[in-house]
Amino acid sequence: MRWDAQALRPAPAGNNAGNSAGNASAAAPAADALLPLAGLVRSVSTPEFAGVTFHEVTAKSVLNKVAAGSRMPFEWTVNPYRGCSHACVYCFARKSHTYLDFDAGLDFDSQVVVKINAADVLRKELAKPSWGHHHVALGTNTDPYQRAEGRYQLMPGIIRALADSGTPLSILTKGTLLARDIPLLKHAAAQVPVGIGISLAMTDEQLSEAVEPGTPGPRARLKLVSRLREAGLPCGVMAMPILPWLSDSDDALDSLFGSLAAAGATGVTAGALYLKPGTREWFMQWIAARHPELAGRYRRLYGTGSYASKEYREWLAGRIRYFKARHGFSGSHGFSHRDLAQDARDEEAQYPAGSIPEARTGPGANSGVESAQPTLF
Ligand code: SF4
Repeated sequence: MRWDAQALRPAPAGNNAGNSAGNASAAAPAADALLPLAGLVRSVSTPEFAGVTFHEVTAKSVLNKVAAGSRMPFEWTVNPYRGCSHACVYCFARKSHTYLDFDAGLDFDSQVVVKINAADVLRKELAKPSWGHHHVALGTNTDPYQRAEGRYQLMPGIIRALADSGTPLSILTKGTLLARDIPLLKHAAAQVPVGIGISLAMTDEQLSEAVEPGTPGPRARLKLVSRLREAGLPCGVMAMPILPWLSDSDDALDSLFGSLAAAGATGVTAGALYLKPGTREWFMQWIAARHPELAGRYRRLYGTGSYASKEYREWLAGRIRYFKARHGFSGSHGFSHRDLAQDARDEEAQYPAGSIPEARTGPGANSGVESAQPTLF
């Protein structure tokens, strides 16, 4: 199938494609009508990516400074894609799609904006004398290795531009497509600190299929962790979100941390589901449709806010500490884009290139935390 043959004709300026705010499990696909996106070159759809429309844009700038006062542990980001076909129901970035006049539901999953000139623009921005060679984080808003990357191949140019300019970088992804770039990442890691993180918060394949339907499943992501470690690259894991009553049992947490340890993950950060506005509505619709027996419990647990109750978060933090220790993960070293960069420096010092650390065999230290969930939620 020729990609060009699938180009959509731009609609008149002012059309609004944000029309898919319906039920998470039953909403019709968003219309292919186009928004007046800045720099829009064309919009394309193809049977290879059924149900997804790519809006190819030329960006004027791709190096973003995080707003002053942000709690994010990084200052600079690059996001070559807006929207994400990985379609995680819990994705916290959903609301950002409304800034483009798309909706935070099905449009986020199916109307993907692609900055086709990202690498060229980035290279120019990094060459400016004013660039301070700060750490740049990728995968902070949407996944840079979502399926579209197989077609557009933006990441190799981005990684090269960062490494060649002497800029440290970190990448967080669920996409096993990252394996394609392992040789390039190894090369980059010889030039600058490179951190890599895989997002994986459950080992239950069926649950993953239901709640993050566009992603490679847990087994595939664990294999990616192993491949990265075998390649001599550090690999942290972001084990978020842990889903109340769906992936927070002792068995689920034991399986998760045990699998991460066996795969050789160099650090892990875990935490409970966070439901910011835009995500909350979409997730609650999904829970009501797929797990109606839990809908009321989720409403009580989250109230009108974004966070699970303090009691639940404290309970979960205790279980996470216990299972991390049991599988040999230190309590202090977790995952963040800063950790990723630090991982890279630590690994370089600890393990010669190409060597693999011994598999973790945790002492099973007992934290003394009660295993039963509190009953209030
Ligand atoms: S992979 Fe990340 S960015 Fe993509 S939908 Fe899932 S949580 Fe969102």
